[in-house]
Amino acid sequence: MHVTMVKKRLANGEPCRKCAQAEDLLKNRRLWNRIDEVVWADENDPASPGSVLGARHGVAVAPFFIVRDEDGTETVYESALKFIKDCLSEAPPTIQSRSVRDLDVEAVEADLKGRHPSEILRWGLEHYGASCGIAFSGAEDVVLIHMASALGLPFSVFTLDTGRLHPETYRFIEQTRKHYGVEIAVMSPDPIALEAFVKQKGLFSFYDDGHEECCGIRKVEPLKRALGRLSAWVTGQRRDQSPATRSAIPVVERDRTFSGIAGSLLKLNPLAAWSSKDTWDFIREERIPFNPLHERGFVSIGCEPCTRAIMPGEHERAGRFWWEDTTKRECGLHIANVKPPSV
Ligand code: SF4
Repeated sequence: MHVTMVKKRLANGEPCRKCAQAEDLLKNRRLWNRIDEVVWADENDPASPGSVLGARHGVAVAPFFIVRDEDGTETVYESALKFIKDCLSEAPPTIQSRSVRDLDVEAVEADLKGRHPSEILRWGLEHYGASCGIAFSGAEDVVLIHMASALGLPFSVFTLDTGRLHPETYRFIEQTRKHYGVEIAVMSPDPIALEAFVKQKGLFSFYDDGHEECCGIRKVEPLKRALGRLSAWVTGQRRDQSPATRSAIPVVERDRTFSGIAGSLLKLNPLAAWSSKDTWDFIREERIPFNPLHERGFVSIGCEPCTRAIMPGEHERAGRFWWEDTTKRECGLHIANVKPPSV
């Protein structure tokens, strides 16, 4: 198989934005080395090699990909995602699928503790594949999506749309979806429960009587639905995020709050031992996209009314639920960090 990628060069000499995005996508998926040649279609030159190829194949927009098989047959793809899916996807590796219920979690934790986050993630994906879902909201979670993409193993991603996120966060979700070419399951609150809650208590009741009820409807119930389809979930929790609630989180644990598709649910925290600096060094080195709010003093980002920028020297969770006691600043997703387990 021989692959030609045709890119469009604008009059100013730069590649067109869509072509640059397609190249980034291939690089992010570690597939750039599968392109045998790049041919340019110059914006103002119908005789440029890429323009000639476009005319020959009846394609008016770049980028596009020409795949020539051994027998000389040529197929043209105008979608980078379809090209990747049809031509570059390896046969899915065999998932070893281990029952979560019968798993010796302490032994797995002892084995994985101290390993690089990517290795911890690999263990989860090798055993549970797409039934292992990355919970996406913050910078740490994109690090995990980046690592999972590089591993080349099946995985899934979900995010919780509370309806109260910053506009920047919604755009960031879309940017991540396109950047990695991944499907993101966007989980919304139950509209009937939400409508009744807002009708009775308004839009800002959490400032008066705590965040638990609102988070319960907008976050916890949709999370339960997302987790009910999975065997394991992956979080971006780090121990240094909150001395009050996260200082003891293991890299792998049995979820004591939520249930998975077959009852027992595994929770992986591959970044547990990483510091904020480790995370941001990795983001910069790997050129991982991040929420632009981070450049405006926001560190830990949740819903717009419950997140604020912090001052230099303040702890990163100081910008979340700042009107509440520090030991209660978990939103229900990781409530086992706060409350002793009931079983
Ligand atoms: S973080 Fe705030 S707005 Fe978002 S669900 Fe919780 S209480 Fe509601």
